[in-house]
Amino acid sequence: MRLPKKVYICGIPYKIKYLKEMVDTDADREEWLLGQTRHDPAEIRVFKSRTKEQVWQTIWHEVFHAMFYQLKLWRHIKGGRAEELLADGLSLLMQGLRWEYKK
Ligand SMILES: [Zn+2]
Repeated sequence: MRLPKKVYICGIPYKIKYLKEMVDTDADREEWLLGQTRHDPAEIRVFKSRTKEQVWQTIWHEVFHAMFYQLKLWRHIKGGRAEELLADGLSLLMQGLRWEYKK
C-alpha cells in the first residue's frame, strides 16, 4: 500500500503519520479516532488498520479539515456538524472524481 508521508495544504506542509491503534490516532490518547489533524506542528494522524480505500477516505477527510483551518473557513463552520459533513462529502467527491477529456 503506497501512502503519502507529507501533503502541502494551502502551502503548509502537513506530515502524515499512520497509526495501528485507534487510540494512538489521537495525539492525547483520549479518544479512539480514525483520523486527527493538528496544526502546530502541522500533522495528520491516520488510523491505518483498514482497507486502502478507507484509509484514503480518512486522509481526504483530514485534508479538508486542514484546508478549512488554513483558509479560516472553520470560523464559519466549526461547532456544528457542518464541518464533519463537508469533510465527509468532499472526501467522497475526491475519491470518486474522474475527468474525461475530448480525444
Ligand atoms: Zn472530522
